[in-house]
Amino acid sequence: MSNNRHWTHEAIRKIEADIQRSADTHLIKLAINSLQGIDIYLKDESTHPTGSLKHRLARSLFLFALCNGWVKQDTPIIESSSGSTAVSEAYFARLLGLPFIAVMPKTTARKKIEQIEFFGGKAHLVERSDQIYAESHRLAQALNGHYMDQFTYAERATDWRGNNNIADSIFSQMALEDHPIPEWIVMSAGTGGTSSTIGRFIRYQKYPTRLCVVDPENSVFFDYYHCLDKNLKHDCGSKIEGIGRPRVEPSFVPSVIDEMRHIPDAASIATMYWLEQRLGRKVGPSTGTNLYGVLQLAREMRESGKQGSIVTLLCDSGERYLETYYNPAWIQQQFGDYSRYAQELATLV
Ligand SMILES: *Cc1c(COP(=O)(O)O)cnc(C)c1O
Repeated sequence: MSNNRHWTHEAIRKIEADIQRSADTHLIKLAINSLQGIDIYLKDESTHPTGSLKHRLARSLFLFALCNGWVKQDTPIIESSSGSTAVSEAYFARLLGLPFIAVMPKTTARKKIEQIEFFGGKAHLVERSDQIYAESHRLAQALNGHYMDQFTYAERATDWRGNNNIADSIFSQMALEDHPIPEWIVMSAGTGGTSSTIGRFIRYQKYPTRLCVVDPENSVFFDYYHCLDKNLKHDCGSKIEGIGRPRVEPSFVPSVIDEMRHIPDAASIATMYWLEQRLGRKVGPSTGTNLYGVLQLAREMRESGKQGSIVTLLCDSGERYLETYYNPAWIQQQFGDYSRYAQELATLV
């Protein structure tokens, strides 16, 4: 066997051993008395070793690249990222002894950059979020490296039929609940990979569950869903870190989504704080976007006299955002007044 094949086998074994050592993430039930008979659950992806749902994606992207023969011993790994994916990929690159460079917008949370460096990776910052793609291509070519390209490969690197993917895990964890088959699963889109996996899995398993994708301001996904124009662009990036994109990402699959909702950024922020009070710990801003969508659907179910369950994701922890989303001065400057939504949420007890 060639040296290369031997290295690849060892690399795959190391990733599988890492999975074997790891536990699944919890499904947390949120108690809201005023939503009698409507149960809300959060799949807590913050408990992965690298702190977000991107741990799953990074693992899948590395296995995909290894099995495709794209990554070999000493291949530098390049990625375009708003941060979370890069943190998780830096972890797997270190596990395999590969150099790692993340191309990120300069607005990325400092904590994330520190975590990438903690795992032995390097951060390569660009001015604007729409510059990360071309710069990643350029770097990969210059260094004879491999551009992971999460925005293209997220939807196909993940096993959508099962293999304990996130949808598989949600449905098996729901098995003993009052309403085991969710009425809705709500998710936001960054790459679109997670919603693609969930949407395909729901169809494959023949469940009646509907998938609602929530989108923040300054993102093209919501408009794209309705007009299917692949050339839609936004000049400024989303202010909700991790979700919302300035261009239509190849990994976003509109046909598996039953409904999309546009969520005002101020509502995402208010819901993030609201959840902090309920859970006793901080969550990231995209979790606020997800949960605001869930609460809208729950109220609509209540108004039409329906009961059932709604599941969403707690995508990452708020500890990463202490200087930004948990800093009142920064919030005021970025989002202004969100009290309208805070008051609206205060009625949910
Ligand atoms: C990536 C990400 C999402 C969206 O997940 P995708 O599978 O990329 O669509 C949501 N929240 C956070 C914090 C993320 O990092």
